[in-house]
Amino acid sequence: MPRVLTVVDPSAVDQRPGTADPAKTPVAHGPVNLTPVPTTKPTIPRLVVSPRSDAFRRRFYPQAGLRDWNDWRWQNRSRIRTIAELDRMLSLTDEERQAIEMHRGALPIGVTPYYASLLDPENATQSLRRTVIPVMGEYLRSRGEADDPLGEDAHSPVPGLVHRYPDRVLLLVTNFCSVYCRYCTRARMVGSVGERSIRKHDLEQAIDYIAGNPVIRDVLLSGGDPLSLDDERLEWILSRLRAIPHVEFIRIGSKQPVVQPQRVTPALVRILKRFHPLWMSLHFTHPDELTPEVAEACARLADAGIPLGSQTVLLKGVNDDIPTMKSLVQGLLRIRVRPYYLYQCDPISGSAHFRTTVQKGIDIIRGLRGHTTGYAVPTYVIDAPAGGGKIPVSPDYIVGREGDDLLLTNYDNGSYRYPDPQTEAAGCESA
Ligand code: SF4
Repeated sequence: MPRVLTVVDPSAVDQRPGTADPAKTPVAHGPVNLTPVPTTKPTIPRLVVSPRSDAFRRRFYPQAGLRDWNDWRWQNRSRIRTIAELDRMLSLTDEERQAIEMHRGALPIGVTPYYASLLDPENATQSLRRTVIPVMGEYLRSRGEADDPLGEDAHSPVPGLVHRYPDRVLLLVTNFCSVYCRYCTRARMVGSVGERSIRKHDLEQAIDYIAGNPVIRDVLLSGGDPLSLDDERLEWILSRLRAIPHVEFIRIGSKQPVVQPQRVTPALVRILKRFHPLWMSLHFTHPDELTPEVAEACARLADAGIPLGSQTVLLKGVNDDIPTMKSLVQGLLRIRVRPYYLYQCDPISGSAHFRTTVQKGIDIIRGLRGHTTGYAVPTYVIDAPAGGGKIPVSPDYIVGREGDDLLLTNYDNGSYRYPDPQTEAAGCESA
């Protein structure tokens, strides 16, 4: 069924009880009370503002000062959701307009003003623009595509929790994202029915499940975007998880520092650093995202001792060439983010226009390995349909064998032999 753009007045969303829009929603998970609720206007921490974003603010939000712009709640409240708002900022093509008008249901349009400032107003093929503005390809269903290609729903013992690998679980704490990526693996659920976080009852059930399964040593918070929750709610969830003795390791998967770097406030960082070991996987797509704002947000997280890894989806016409990917991974190292995974795009319904061949991904990895710092080379994986998990895919540097020699090729196609007897030697004899 075609998706139709949900045109929602953000102020109306904010006022509905139980919605997750963190701009205004009160704490929904009962008696949290870990942090005093501020009674005065919150202090808005300063964040660097790049000239490009500042020019955009002055042009399209002349009433908003830098204080507003740097306030993540303002960024949420001011998200671009409608075709009328897009029309003000971009020259929409007929195809984009038609796709937006056809949209129904989940994965609505949502773009923060900050991220909108990075879009090319004239060029519909610009990489970042393609990732957030729908095109008609979203409505074409191709062979092998599915709404839930990873079979997450089938591995969900309680609502909001996916238990696919023995020792770790995925806890989906919200279906809200401040920016909706058109290739989202969870397109079936993100942004649907009022954009809200997991219900308190379901969250309690999920936490009880984790507490009752001592094999679970690693919990990944995901969604939607966990950092779209307000500080109090996030702190409550982290506290509950940290209180479970067998949970050794907490991870947060987020795109917020990339699409809304204003979210990485000193207050948030103070909360996060209380729950070490806590790691973060940040969702980066393209080097155009590596702005001064994002660099500062990542520095705040890294300075708090949070190891940062990146997750990138390989996308046709967006980042599927070696120079773009090299620029991205090298730029990530500069802002202290270790490229972690490069994902083959999952076959979600309507994703054919984003999916490359697997060979292209292999070629990109071959173009990185040896040609740049080893830390910059992510692991290329296919998340196997139906819950098979991540399967690494890599170029083959073993070209054959001659007797006890392994024949290898290196990054610049040189040929090498490595002594590799078929049976292991009993030991070294002393001379
Ligand atoms: S940030 Fe992640 S969960 Fe949200 S729309 Fe993008 S890919 Fe989906």
